[in-house]
Amino acid sequence: MIDCALLQSEAAALGVTLDADALERFDRYAQRLVEVNKYLNLTAITDPTEIVYKHFLDSLSVLRYVLLPLGARCIDVGTGAGFPGAALQIARPDLRMTLLDGTQKKLTFVQETMQEIGLPAQTVHLRAEEAGQASEYRARFELVTARAVANLRELCEYCLPLTKHGGIFVAMKSVQSDAELAEAQGAIRLLGGKIDAVHTFSLPGAGERTLICIKKISQTPPKYPRPSAKIAKQPLR
Ligand code: SAM
Repeated sequence: MIDCALLQSEAAALGVTLDADALERFDRYAQRLVEVNKYLNLTAITDPTEIVYKHFLDSLSVLRYVLLPLGARCIDVGTGAGFPGAALQIARPDLRMTLLDGTQKKLTFVQETMQEIGLPAQTVHLRAEEAGQASEYRARFELVTARAVANLRELCEYCLPLTKHGGIFVAMKSVQSDAELAEAQGAIRLLGGKIDAVHTFSLPGAGERTLICIKKISQTPPKYPRPSAKIAKQPLR
């Protein structure tokens, strides 16, 4: 269904090597995404070339900037139909990936698809702010990712509690927003983070992208994350 040669060469340009197994898995993932999307609203992107660029390569761009040791524990917050987490797991089957979402419907698609392609990612149906207060998830992950989930201030409260000391939280944004970044400075500090890098690049066929990489440098105070309503009503300053 997808152009595997295109995916392989564009991934190589990001420094990501995809072998034949990975390419076949991406192809099956795309097929199932389009098939299930006919009766379940998973994505607005269904053209095969757009799936390659806007879902797969966009997701894989994380690997261009973050070096992950073998077997690193990772979590994708608000994974939706599996982006970026499922794509990262396909490219790096060694990662211990958790795909988390507060909505079960898309998660069922992700779980069934990962099973079908034979990859072990764990799916978790929880809100991030609940996971952040649970000992099995709090401060356990070397990489935390989130794409198109919330504004950076809220996202930090969802994601930094899950990030292990020394680990990285990557917020994937489609446009660089200096205002959003400036507004989140207080939250980042308060939650134990520090901006490590901001990478802006253009993804062929998908426009401008920004990865905001935040390093966890100290413990998140126990009162965070707060309940959802508080996060929304009283964003951190
Ligand atoms: N990350 C995927 C992508 O880029 O294709 C999905 C993006 S979709 C716009 C946002 C997803 O985040 C939804 O599936 C929603 O259920 C989930 N979400 C939003 N807030 C959440 C929270 N606090 N905890 C867990 N999931 C959340």
